[in-house]
Amino acid sequence: MKQQKKGKKGEFHHKRSLGQNFLTDEALFEQLVDLSGVGPEDSVLEIGAGAGGMTKVLSKRCRKVISIEIDDALLPILGVVLQQCGNVRLVHGDVMRLNLPEVTKDLGPFHVVANIPYYLTTDLMTLLFTSDMPIQSISVMVQKEAAEKMVARPGEEGYGMLSVRAQYTYAPEIALDVPACMFTPPPKVDSAFVVMPRREKPCVDVQDENLLFRVAGAAFAMRRKTMENNLIATFRVPREKAGEWMEKSGLDRGARGETLSLKDFAALADTIGNNR
Ligand code: SAM
Repeated sequence: MKQQKKGKKGEFHHKRSLGQNFLTDEALFEQLVDLSGVGPEDSVLEIGAGAGGMTKVLSKRCRKVISIEIDDALLPILGVVLQQCGNVRLVHGDVMRLNLPEVTKDLGPFHVVANIPYYLTTDLMTLLFTSDMPIQSISVMVQKEAAEKMVARPGEEGYGMLSVRAQYTYAPEIALDVPACMFTPPPKVDSAFVVMPRREKPCVDVQDENLLFRVAGAAFAMRRKTMENNLIATFRVPREKAGEWMEKSGLDRGARGETLSLKDFAALADTIGNNR
């Protein structure tokens, strides 16, 4: 499919503000769908239909596709490109404002496969990671740096809330590096396709999930400080109490938050929950 740019005759202009860096290579779309692992029995939610290149391949290879697109200017193009795709429902709207459980309710359990707008990465991924929708896997093209955050382990650069949220429920892996030149127009950064099958159950047991994420949030609030200092600031407790929580959780009182694992955060959350 040809990408549109330029022109005064009502033709399409890519909008940088909407993260419109389109992919055009048919073989790459096929490869991405292969990597996502979705098949003929599966339902898929795509976020950001763009000019419909990925949507068309998903339509051919999956049972049902819902594709969300915010930009009115793409609707006529999508109407033509997806003309033969009877199993695609195009939803015009802002993914962050739509009622996604309502939009996707007829899909049953579904997979997310998308080349997402990069400006939305953190908010959109957090929304998906924390949602109650029956998402079976998430496979997304994101900036390479964001991909590295999702797979980062304790102590590695990029380890933070996105890593913790991704890894708690999903098993993220970078499946493919994709250079900027594959996009039209090319973004300033390279990209990566991250594939995240949902775990059967979260990777750690914890009594209170909200408290787990509050503890993790505390760990990354002030990266250079010790976890103990971050606990004092976040939970407004005296040093003695924070130290007691660290020790009861089997953690070194001098440890920095960014070196702690999800298992450590879960131990701390349980200790805090039981020893307020
Ligand atoms: N899927 C196409 C492809 O791979 O070539 C387009 C991907 S492009 C990176 C992201 C798409 O998301 C754009 O078409 C953009 O208009 C759309 N988009 C941006 N913000 C959005 C939002 N808040 N809700 C829904 N779609 C959005």
